Formats: sequence, structure tokens, C-alpha cells
Amino acid sequence: MNIANLLRRSGQVHADRPAVWHGDELRFDYQTLAHRTAALAGFLRQAFKVLPGERIAIFATNVPEYLEALQAIYWAGAVSVPVNAKLHHRELAHVLADAEPCLWLVTPDLLQTAIDAGANESQLLVLGSPAYREALFAAPAELTPRQPDDLASLFYTSGTTGRPKGVMQTHRNLLAMTACYFMDVDDVHADDAMLYAAPLSHGAGLYHFAHMARGARHVVPRSGGFDAEEIMALAQSVGRLSFFAAPTMVRRLVQHVRSVGADTRGIKTIVYGGGPMYLEDIKTALDVLGPRLVQIYGQGESPMTITALSRDTLEQRGDPDWLRRAASVGVAQTAVEVAVVDTAGRTLGPSQLGEVVVRGATVMAGYWRNPEATAGTLKDGWLYTGDMGILDEDGFLTLKDRSKDLIISGGSNIYPREVEEVLLMHPAVNEATVVGMHDPEWGEVPVAFLALHAETRTDTAELDAWCLRHLARFKRPKHYRVVDSLPKNSYGKVLKTLLREQLEFDVIAAHLPSAD
Ligand code: AMP
Repeated sequence: MNIANLLRRSGQVHADRPAVWHGDELRFDYQTLAHRTAALAGFLRQAFKVLPGERIAIFATNVPEYLEALQAIYWAGAVSVPVNAKLHHRELAHVLADAEPCLWLVTPDLLQTAIDAGANESQLLVLGSPAYREALFAAPAELTPRQPDDLASLFYTSGTTGRPKGVMQTHRNLLAMTACYFMDVDDVHADDAMLYAAPLSHGAGLYHFAHMARGARHVVPRSGGFDAEEIMALAQSVGRLSFFAAPTMVRRLVQHVRSVGADTRGIKTIVYGGGPMYLEDIKTALDVLGPRLVQIYGQGESPMTITALSRDTLEQRGDPDWLRRAASVGVAQTAVEVAVVDTAGRTLGPSQLGEVVVRGATVMAGYWRNPEATAGTLKDGWLYTGDMGILDEDGFLTLKDRSKDLIISGGSNIYPREVEEVLLMHPAVNEATVVGMHDPEWGEVPVAFLALHAETRTDTAELDAWCLRHLARFKRPKHYRVVDSLPKNSYGKVLKTLLREQLEFDVIAAHLPSAD
């Protein structure tokens, strides 16, 4: 059971259907895509002597060759290591020392970074280069047989904290994740199109499997990333577009559609997730974009597959439970069970707060060469997500902040998300995040970082009054800092660790003796 069988099958069944697009230009059909992939796999085996189970890094920006290169790795029985194109060469060096790939597939723009990170030139193949084009004439390889529990991919966690760890995803994990897309996220038809407006190395890329299985179109935008104007133009020219978007991207798209009055009919589905989407944002997104949103909650350790909040649930705005459900991450996806446990691992009842745990066919095999981290995360058959949440009677999961983000002030718990939701309702606030700062009296106090809408103003007194109107007094931020925009990693997640470090640095600096 090799996950690349999805492409092999579509190469036959959907041979003449359009497969890969670069912007609005069709590049290849399914027959061609399957042939290019098999030839590339043949080349990897012959020229680089790649053996099943060996790792191949794919360090590439979003380009049309990405999908065939990735599929060729699986086809050859090797293990993909998709590396975030925005990594610094030092982070990259860590990932690569850990994964020990036998080969790197890179885009020309990242070649130098790969070399700086220690790649040997004899181990590099540049996508689209003359050598690559020649490789496409190699004798096509047969699909390499793989067992369900064989390793398919080593996915390095995004590392908002600590060093990235290699999540071992098996062929079974990826197939189960794909089945869940159909069961819990969206149905896919051959005339649909998946747009890669977020890095193919991360969650957005994982959705190519479901679209490959159905012989649907894959669209790599010419910008290679998220550009609201480009997306709306592609929605018109290509049509039936679906894509994965982090909540910040949904916000930007909503702002664009609103400001230019763009026609959203060419968009089929926007799957959002990867970070919290605030209630105010989801309400606006539904108003502006219509019934096109589905939420997923997942993590590399159970790729894209823990819970889903369906289009139908989001659309039932008259339902008395709507507000609560729209603020949740939905219900367990079909291939997994989800529970909430206390610190001793005991299952908690409805409405009790604890750590979210998951078990099922999408849960990783463990962390690569890291038995200690594996033992701390996979316990008694459950994956401990590190996320805090509450399940209700109907199985809807509401995430609270990760335990490390919880603020304990004077012995009371403050969940930053709750404060952020309130700040975001303020008309001047565009982005908000709340972190804890050490305080000699309270232990920690909440501090809000805010980015304001253009041409708006507010001040501490007004924000304080606003928070007091909606929150218990002890939860209101003790300081407000206005910034141009919140720092985010390349997947759009707010880097709270960086903000906490900044606050610590400021406190230390304030206590240093002055020079004079
Ligand atoms: P990663 O493994 O880098 O994809 O990060 C996964 C983490 O992102 C999860 O453990 C959650 O903390 C967070 N996350 C993912 N999806 C959601 C969501 N829909 N809502 C809130 N947080 C999310």
C-alpha cells in the first residue's frame, strides 16, 4: 500500500484530465504527471541508488514540479522530508543532520541556502534544471510496494518552541488522512481545483492527496504563496477553487473581497485551521465569503486530522448552539477518537478542561530517533497533543490555550484566547495577542500586543473600560503595546514565545544599572 498508488491509479483512470496548472496555465494531464513521476523515481533509483526507506529532502518553494518530485519519492519507496522553504540555514542544518537525507530536491532560489546548510553538490537535484529535465527521460520505475506501517514522510514540527522534531508519518497515516478529507471536510469532484496558496511543505500540501485520488486539478499560483488579489483572479479564470488557509490568510482575503467587492463564486471551499480563528473573524468571513468555510484542527503528529467543523454546522446560524459551536474546532474526524484527560491521564467528563488526546489511524508512529520525546507524547495508545480543551455532550471540542500559554496571575488562571476575543471585538483592533509577563507581586500579569486598523486610535483607558465591560477585572491586560503587526512564523502562527522573550528582555533591561 504505497500512497503514490493514488497517482498511479489516476494516471490510468483520469488519464486525459488536467492535472497540474501554473496559475491559469495548464501544464500536464494525469497521464503525463504519472509518467513524469515514474521516470523521476526511476532516475532516483538508477542515478542516485536510492533505496526504499532512505530519506530524500524536498526543500522547495511552491512550483509546479513540487508535486511530481514529492510523488516520485514515494513511488521510489523512499521517505520524503518536506522542509519549510523559509527556514534559516542553521535550522535547516539541524533538520538535515537529524533526518540524514541521501539526496535533496531543491528549487533554484534555495540552492545556495542548501549549500550553506551543508548539502553536498553531488546530492542535489535542482527542480526544473537541465539535469532534472533529463531525469524525466529515465526508464520509468514500477511503483515500489510499501507496507501500511512503513514510513512515508518525516515532517518536522513547525517549532514555535524548541527544536523541530521529525514526526514519522506512515503510508497508512496519509491514506487515513485522505479518507477523512472526503468524510469530514469536503467531497471532491474531478473538475475541482486545489490551490496551493500556503507552503506545499506543510498542511496545504497534504491536501493534494485527496485531489489526486479524484483526478482533480492542482493549481500552483504564480506568486507561489498567498496573494488575495491573485486568488480572486484564479477563482474567476480556473473556477471551483478550494484551498487551505491559516486564519490570518482568511482575514486578509476577507479584507480584500470587502474592499474591492470581488465575486466569490469561483471559490468552492476554504479549509481554515492551524491556529485559533476568533469568533468575530469567523462571523465576518461567513458574511463576506458565504457558505465556503470548513475548519480543521490537526497537528503534524496527526496530520490535518483531529477534528473538523463542517460547512453545515457553520451555516446554521439560527441554531441556539451556534455561537458555542462556531467557537469550537468541531467534532472528531471519522478515523480518530478524541478525549480530554487530566494530568494523570484519566478521561474527563463533558465540560471539564484537560489535555486533548487522540488515537486512530492518522496518529504518527513516533518521533524520528527520539524515543524520549515519543514516550512523552504517545502514551497507552493515545497521542498527547499538548493542547488544552473541553468536549461538550455532543462531542464538540473547544480548544483553550496551550498549557504553556496559560497565564497564572495571583493564583488565578487567565486563558489568553478569552481576552484576545474581547480585544478583537473593539472597533480599532485588527490583531491581538495576549501573553504573560513575570511580575513580582502577581507571579504573572497579562500583556496585550495589538495591531490597530489603519486610521484608528485608541488608548489604555478606553481599552481598559472595554475589557472591564466584558471580562472579570483580574483578566484585563495590565499593559497594552501597539505594534505594526504581530510576529508570525511562516505558517502564519503568532510567535508568542518571541513576545514573551521581548517582555523578559525589557524587564531585565529596566533593572540594569544605567551607564552613568
Ligand atoms: P503544527 O503541528 O505545526 O501543524 O501545529 C499544530 C498546532 O496548531 C496544534 O497542536 C494546535 O495548537 C494548533 N492548531 C491547529 N489547528 C487549530 C485550530 N483549528 N484551532 C486552533 N489551534 C489549532
